Amino acid sequence: TEKYCGSLKLWLPDGSLLPHAEGPLTEVLRTGNPAHNVEVIIERPDGLRVPVLINIAALKNTEGEVTGSITSMTDIRERKLSEEAIQQEKRKAEAANLAKSEFLANMSHEIRTPMNAVLGLAHILSLTADMPKKQQEVISTLQLSAQSLLGLINDLLDIAKIETNSVDIEHIPFTMSEVINEVFSIISHSVREQGITLAHIATPADSQQFLGDPHRIRQVLVNLVSNAVKFTQHGGVTLSTTITPLDAPGRCYVHIAVADTGIGIAPGKLEQIFEKFTQADSSITRKYGGTGLGLAISKNLAEIMGGSITIKSDLDKGSEFTLHLPLELPDAAGAYAAAAKDNQQETPDHKIMHGRVLLVEDYQPNVMVATYMLESLGYNCDVASNGKEALVGLRANRGKYVAVLMDVQMPVMDGLEATRLIREEEKQKGLTRMHIIAMTAYALQGDRERCMSAGMDDYISKPFQPIQLRTALDQLKTASAG
Ligand code: ADP
Repeated sequence: TEKYCGSLKLWLPDGSLLPHAEGPLTEVLRTGNPAHNVEVIIERPDGLRVPVLINIAALKNTEGEVTGSITSMTDIRERKLSEEAIQQEKRKAEAANLAKSEFLANMSHEIRTPMNAVLGLAHILSLTADMPKKQQEVISTLQLSAQSLLGLINDLLDIAKIETNSVDIEHIPFTMSEVINEVFSIISHSVREQGITLAHIATPADSQQFLGDPHRIRQVLVNLVSNAVKFTQHGGVTLSTTITPLDAPGRCYVHIAVADTGIGIAPGKLEQIFEKFTQADSSITRKYGGTGLGLAISKNLAEIMGGSITIKSDLDKGSEFTLHLPLELPDAAGAYAAAAKDNQQETPDHKIMHGRVLLVEDYQPNVMVATYMLESLGYNCDVASNGKEALVGLRANRGKYVAVLMDVQMPVMDGLEATRLIREEEKQKGLTRMHIIAMTAYALQGDRERCMSAGMDDYISKPFQPIQLRTALDQLKTASAG
């Protein structure tokens, strides 16, 4: 309804000025082809810039020559405003989601720190000789409860990682039978207690080498198998692996089926059980426990690995969950097999090797746990309660220590800064490199990288099992031998 005279200045939606020679009108006049819905910004005679959609048709004479044009413009200010409002809402929601995930990650750090003490101290107690049976039961219940609380925290952390797209997927050689054996060793305890069977139907696929992320695959299978066990009162659970070809060279599809003879799932619930915090039947929470996070995490992890989870189920007869994964076959099978074998080398006996470790930790209960663990592995230790004390201790008695076990978050001076300063001093004074192992409760992506780039040599995340500390110290022994 408004009139424009003379030539209009046009801007593109990104705000850049459109040269006159490249404008839609010039193009229509040159080619004779119409222009449809070109979005530009025009300046009205009163100076106001308005976003518009331009449509231009060429007028042609009987010879088909372009003699003029008809242009119509639609003011799209309102549409733009609502689009912008939607974008803004989206940005706000994304920021809120990120803030929530960060909050969750920080909380998990706060919870994991004392949890390390609970699990570690329970472990120390469980080793007491000649303990009355009643006390043994109390301690094992304490351990189970702490483990299940830790499982819950890990699940929440996984959800946070999935929502912020920060799940890292590994690409290392493994066989399915290794993964399935680990799954069985984790779950066999509850199977025995329940009096059902857990069987692995062996197939040639089990010994095939693949490249992928065995830890994440194990995590998904542990979830599927523990659900199958949880919801099966009679009969049992079977696992089997098959391979089908993929039309990409060097890759194939692996299908791991977990079948049970349990309570089954009603057809109407099959999709919704994969949603967060959702269970097929809310009375299930009371009867079987669980949070409804396991399948949501499993489905997401399967998808991140390029695969999927499918399900077949008959109410009261049983269910079959199948994890389908596209996996790479190692091209130099021999080399990969050798690499995998190297990883499984027998761990050397620690009792022979003694040394003194500088333990840097501010949280007293965790000092107790780490000291005990170190002693049981054949190491003495001195304690510094922050990075600054560690620096002082190292300056005075550097030769005394075979390694530093360094907490990351500490008052006065944190572990990252202390490590940086230790490395600087080593450089300035030409000292041999001290082996520094980070131990942190902040199990987030990027945390390991931060520790390594500060100059640490290894990383264990709290709560850790004695075996993890042992493995980290084994590396030290291997390094000093080599
Ligand atoms: P949780 O097991 O913690 O409740 P999951 O996400 O692992 O959470 O499972 C969601 C729901 O799916 C379960 O509560 C249950 O209702 C159903 N479900 C999962 N696996 C099975 C199974 N093998 N048999 C019967 N129901 C199952």
